[in-house]
Amino acid sequence: MSKVEKSEQEWRQELTPEQYRVLREKGTEAPFSGELDHTFEPGTYRCAGCGAELFDSDAKYDSGCGWPAFSAPAGEDAIEEETDAAYGMVRTEVLCSSCGGHLGHVFPDGPHPTGLRYCINSAALKLDEK
Ligand code: FE
Repeated sequence: MSKVEKSEQEWRQELTPEQYRVLREKGTEAPFSGELDHTFEPGTYRCAGCGAELFDSDAKYDSGCGWPAFSAPAGEDAIEEETDAAYGMVRTEVLCSSCGGHLGHVFPDGPHPTGLRYCINSAALKLDEK
């Protein structure tokens, strides 16, 4: 898979300030604020930075946590995971494997059968509706 590499200046030009803050500065949008939190239309969720396919709407569910939640990624190569020990918590960060953009975190409190909750910032996603 070819990696998307851009300068910080290019990212700033292409992304909205909120997208830049989340994807490139590992920010977190305010809960219940993202436009895709309560969207359940069928489609493909792509990276807002590079367009890579990240999640399918079939895996999206209403976790009530305030951010879009998915039980699994679209494919095992779509995302990368890293340990994040910021803010006095040990969490697993989820990144786009194509551009390295920060997406959110994954928690072990999701639904059957994966038991995982990929808690993803709406600002990091674009929905291609079917
Ligand atoms: Fe990406």
